[in-house]
Amino acid sequence: MTVTVQPRALTDYKTRDFRMLVDGSWVESEGGSTLERVAPGHGVTVSRYQAGTRRDAERAIAAARRAFDDGRWPNMTGAERSNLLLKAADLIAARADELAYLDAIESGKPISQAKAELGGAVDIWRYAAALARDLHGESYNTLGQGTLGVVLREAIGVVSIITPWNFPFLIVSQKLPFALAAGCTTVVKPSELTSGSTLVLGEILLEAGVPAGVVNIVTGTGPEVGSMMATHPGVDMVSFTGSTGVGRLTMANAAQTLKKVSLELGGKNPQIVFPDANLDEFVDAAVFGAYFNAGECCNAGSRLILHRDIADEVTARIAELSKKVKVGDPLDPTTQVGAIITPQHLEKIAGYVSGARESGAGIALGGEALDLGLGQFMAPTILSGVKPDMAVAREEVFGPVLSVLTFETTEEAIRIANSIDYGLSAGVWSRDFDTCLTIGRRVRAGTIWMNTFMDGASELPFGGYKQSGLGRELGRHAVEDYTETKTLNMHIGARTNWWMPR
Ligand code: NAD
Repeated sequence: MTVTVQPRALTDYKTRDFRMLVDGSWVESEGGSTLERVAPGHGVTVSRYQAGTRRDAERAIAAARRAFDDGRWPNMTGAERSNLLLKAADLIAARADELAYLDAIESGKPISQAKAELGGAVDIWRYAAALARDLHGESYNTLGQGTLGVVLREAIGVVSIITPWNFPFLIVSQKLPFALAAGCTTVVKPSELTSGSTLVLGEILLEAGVPAGVVNIVTGTGPEVGSMMATHPGVDMVSFTGSTGVGRLTMANAAQTLKKVSLELGGKNPQIVFPDANLDEFVDAAVFGAYFNAGECCNAGSRLILHRDIADEVTARIAELSKKVKVGDPLDPTTQVGAIITPQHLEKIAGYVSGARESGAGIALGGEALDLGLGQFMAPTILSGVKPDMAVAREEVFGPVLSVLTFETTEEAIRIANSIDYGLSAGVWSRDFDTCLTIGRRVRAGTIWMNTFMDGASELPFGGYKQSGLGRELGRHAVEDYTETKTLNMHIGARTNWWMPR
């Protein structure tokens, strides 16, 4: 039986109305329509955003273009930009409770987790501020007496930033401060389901002193606003996080004007477990990896690849621990798994579970939606006897659904891990150094966790192999991603003529 926390009715909640940030002003959409966000854990309308149009996107791109081309942001010193980012970080920290509340109520994630994400986001803003002062190129004084080479790093220009709903504030914080640190100006489009905290971030950046037009925030749907942000010739780069399907479309749209594209996409991340692993630690990490953010996480450890000798025992232990996970009211501080983002998404998750059943998988736990009176919830679910060719083993379910597969040899484990189109992250559990390093080197994924899962730090690059993405966020090169490289090839002294030696 799942432990549930009944959501409290939000009878006196006052819907928050938001406008969009264009050229330093808070504006309504020129189309005059709005989008309403119904809280997935409580079933009431909590936020109302402007339904931006293609024209609104164009206005925002024009403002970002002016702010870049007149130099008001790229011509500042790195130290000046860094100080503004540090000030923004302080203001984010000061409003962290408000931001976490918005993320929890709009996305359905547990409030305790939303607060932890805000802590992580503040750290990223501070890290980006440090990098802003250290952005530099290279010089070559080794090219002979007549040549000096200097390689400059210049801000790439106007960047479109498009984000998903599963980590609303954290993901915009993995992009925007680095783009700003590099000297870029931006148009940001948050998910139409969770735009609130990004719009509050706009207030914070204006208060911090970021000049008008440097950060513009347009709300609305992807096909209307997002596609314009990917195609418009005034944009130099698109930084996108979302599904692999929309990522592919965004890359095709950006190809029309050959923009630089950075993509953080889906995952189907394996945890490979050997019999010599510390199974107590692994069982805890398996439950965390599967149900964190209700499994609506690109990094979810949704694919366990267990050694056959331990598979039954480990699956039983994971099922036992999973029964203790608290599912329910996102605003209750003890909740561990919150609501599912929309009723349609809940149906999609349930469809994967019934499809797996029809293909021969067993249900070791859960498998059904939970009726808690308000909102939409899914029980922690474990599917056993999953085969590598089943859809549930290859596709991103994006719900609290764990698929258990088995292996006999290390080669087989690697083959199964690498057999799908995704390559975002993976975990390996063994006390044997050789085993961990062999898996670490041969599994094709951007992050490999060894005897841990879903850890991270602002210093460590993050991103995907294969169809999980293109490029890396975080880490010391994150700012460089938002730059162009320019070569200054300088001649010293008399130059040799092309047609006639001197
Ligand atoms: P999504 O692809 O549906 O939407 C992402 C964003 O793209 C939203 O802002 C949306 O409005 C916009 N969009 C939709 N259609 C568009 C179009 N035609 N042109 C431009 N923009 C468009 O994704 P989602 O459902 O919001 O988020 C879940 C997905 O995000 C999952 O696949 C998850 O794995 C992925 N994700 C990846 C990472 C990562 O770092 N790799 C992190 C979080 C989420």
